Amino acid sequence: MTIVRLEKLRKVFDNRVVAVDDVDLVINDGEILAVLGPSGCGKTTLLRLVAGLEEPTSGRIYFNDRDVTKIPTQQRNTAIVPQTWALWPHMTVFENVAYGLRLKKNQFNLTEREIKRRVEEVLELVGLAELSNRRPFQLSGGQQQRVALARALVVQPEVLLLDEPLANLDAKLRVELREEVRKIAKKLSITTLYVTHDQEEAMAVADRVAVMNAGRILQVGTPEEIYHKPQNFFVATFLGRSNLFRGRVVEARGEVAVIDIGFIITAETPQKVSQGDEVYVVIRPEDIYMGFGGVRCSVEDVVFLGRFYQTTLRCSNKTLKAEGPKPPARPGEEIQIEIARAWAFKT
Ligand code: ATP
Repeated sequence: MTIVRLEKLRKVFDNRVVAVDDVDLVINDGEILAVLGPSGCGKTTLLRLVAGLEEPTSGRIYFNDRDVTKIPTQQRNTAIVPQTWALWPHMTVFENVAYGLRLKKNQFNLTEREIKRRVEEVLELVGLAELSNRRPFQLSGGQQQRVALARALVVQPEVLLLDEPLANLDAKLRVELREEVRKIAKKLSITTLYVTHDQEEAMAVADRVAVMNAGRILQVGTPEEIYHKPQNFFVATFLGRSNLFRGRVVEARGEVAVIDIGFIITAETPQKVSQGDEVYVVIRPEDIYMGFGGVRCSVEDVVFLGRFYQTTLRCSNKTLKAEGPKPPARPGEEIQIEIARAWAFKT
């Protein structure tokens, strides 16, 4: 039962690189929280701070009510699954997993029999029971990553830390394994921090997602909340695909505004805007309904992308990408569209 609480956590490297910038964050007991952000935004540093592998410049880290800020990494009871798994090539799967436990043997006061029992249990959990005598080179990438996960879990950590754990696997395996990781973390009810730059992975794995950029957490919420209610421009454009325009506020009406982007639309305004403001407007392709509505456009191109048709539209000298289950018209034809949802943020 562990709640992780970060308070104004800050890490500055070499007196100038602010990798983690006054982060406040809570990971609830048994929750999987994904930290999602682009390369270099500070995700790994944040995870290493929680693990005790980096010392914060300022701020505090709590596991429940225990202040662990100054507690050395060995005494924190966290376990990391890194991006590149370093399995011992000369050891079997069993020995690789037992290794971490043996290191802690004195701390845990474990007998060989107990070690065997725990390793077998965790190998069963990650689906490797049959392969315990193989060596790493006899395993697929996905199986190797399962060993890395087993190695982290065998020490029964309070907090599980995963740093882009699937980055080295091919797309299909990533999808398979992220479901597996979620299932296992949920089964064990283990408090989990999952770092990734892949928005789909974050949404698929996590109970809540914290979107990070330039050292700061910009928004925390369920996958639905961050996708459907982005609070700022970065979150709105980092998730999903988007059409991006500049526009001007014609009329501000509290939570929405009427905006001129070459034609008139209504957009949600999570941050306050005023009449006359220059704004960025974000429109997702799936939020453009084709075949009816008040905006006349010509169809420039239609391509089939498997799950949907992507239509390139030209509307009052603006180009928009729209998505739908059917091709709305042929290239060269005119159609009407409705923009069901858009967001506007001050430039
Ligand atoms: P990636 O996804 O590419 O791993 P990230 O989001 O995990 O990126 P970090 O690795 O946490 O980002 O790095 C955040 C910033 O801190 C970067 O500008 C990085 O160059 C810098 N940084 C990280 N570690 C150190 C270090 N030991 N010394 C100096 N600067 C560092």
